Amino acid sequence: MDYLPIFMNIKGQPCLIVGGGAVAARKADLFIKAGAKVTVIAPLLKEEMQRHLQLGKIEWIEAGFDRELMCALPKPKLVISATDEQAVNEAVYEYCRQQQIEVNVADQTEYCDFILPAIIEREPMTVAVSTGGRSPVLARVMKARLESLLPQGLSAVTDLVGRYRNAVKKTLQDAENRKRFWEKLLDSTFIDKASRLESSGEAEAILQQKLQAARLEEQDGLNEVGEVYLIGAGPGDPELMTFKALRLLQQADVVVYDRLVSTEILDMARREAERIYVGKKDKWHRVPQSRINRMLLELAQQGKKVARLKGGDPYIFGRGAEEVELLAEHGIDFQVVPGITAAAGCTAYADFPLTHRDYAHSVSFVTGHQKEGDQAIDYARLAQSGDTMVFYMGVKNAAEIQQGLLAHGVSPQMPAAIIERGTRLDQKVTVVTLAELAGTIRRQKIQPPALLVIGEVVTVREKLHALKRQALERQAKRADIERSDRQEEPWTRLAV
Ligand code: SAH
Repeated sequence: MDYLPIFMNIKGQPCLIVGGGAVAARKADLFIKAGAKVTVIAPLLKEEMQRHLQLGKIEWIEAGFDRELMCALPKPKLVISATDEQAVNEAVYEYCRQQQIEVNVADQTEYCDFILPAIIEREPMTVAVSTGGRSPVLARVMKARLESLLPQGLSAVTDLVGRYRNAVKKTLQDAENRKRFWEKLLDSTFIDKASRLESSGEAEAILQQKLQAARLEEQDGLNEVGEVYLIGAGPGDPELMTFKALRLLQQADVVVYDRLVSTEILDMARREAERIYVGKKDKWHRVPQSRINRMLLELAQQGKKVARLKGGDPYIFGRGAEEVELLAEHGIDFQVVPGITAAAGCTAYADFPLTHRDYAHSVSFVTGHQKEGDQAIDYARLAQSGDTMVFYMGVKNAAEIQQGLLAHGVSPQMPAAIIERGTRLDQKVTVVTLAELAGTIRRQKIQPPALLVIGEVVTVREKLHALKRQALERQAKRADIERSDRQEEPWTRLAV
């Protein structure tokens, strides 16, 4: 380790900045945020530093740096020199060295007792990133990545956790048990709930409940209860998973998944996580829904963190609500993570939208596969609605869908897209008319998963493709002309 990472309390302490430019102002800003008494020595203040002065955040000594001046000031705790003049920076460094004051010369690691990390603020939590002065830009890029991983509401989480620190100390005697309790709590849905105002009460209840469970475990050796994450994994391309989906997937002990979840997504779970497949084994044998519901419950009751991975969005034709019902009934904590549903993912990757000001102001998601005894699809309403119609699970019943829509007055020429394995590397899009839909599916032996989209919006695909083709042709032509120009006038190239 090149530097010891420490967080220093400088509230009310004198700290000094030498320099009045933009860099100096940024450094001053950090001192100000940390509550220091900031003095700036500089003959001139640029705009940013002026602002600090006007807001009364700094004291300004209108002068160049010199040793005698320093003697008149209270000894600073920290000094930063950020001037354009190397001689001044070096003089500041020398002086501080002699006086044993910690000093930092901006952007010159060789003149630094301490360095300032890139920081991610989730007050009161602060994350600091440093490359030991080797590459501030790399530190900032890493900071940006971490920013996206840390939930925005971490301040609320930190406060809540802070409030219970003593209570937990009193409830659990053993330090090791306390550590395990916090680790388990903070590695659970608690953080997500505590960071949102709406569910902060629920988070507190979870904390109390888990604390009780930990107390019972400490006293009687009883098992703790797990939790379930119902995760929408999106339509196939792993990059369409959300940050939250990824984070929860990576903290699961068990992953329960079905057919629509791609192997690349499954690979993102922890290596040691148990994986349980509950999709159809073949055409006729699917794991009954009630068995899946019970399995999730039992795994959670064994104290496991269970990721239930589902294709697309769990609440769109995903039986998500059925799966969490039993959990809710048994008081098992669960969280639902929405995913990009096939309709949104497949149309975007097939280059046309779901709605469009010229073609469709609304959209219907329809299941082409109904439970026995369900009401039939209301083709009359669909035909009249002017909606873009998206049929999930419609491959098998394509003939009936086509028939139903035609019978209620939808034009046989209405464009339709069949999107197979949408968003995956082997996605295939076939554009036909409504009249040709079922025939095409039969002839091409199209297999699920495929999405049927019927509506004028489909025409946007051809329009976009034509525009792209024309642009490419224009570019190619321009390149041709430039090339022939250069051949005719060889000196132009030299001149450039
Ligand atoms: N919950 C899922 C839908 C499950 S129903 C979601 O929100 O997307 C399963 C149907 O979704 C499939 O029969 C197919 O019609 C559609 N589907 C899911 N993923 C798909 C994909 N990658 N490409 C095409 N259709 C898909």
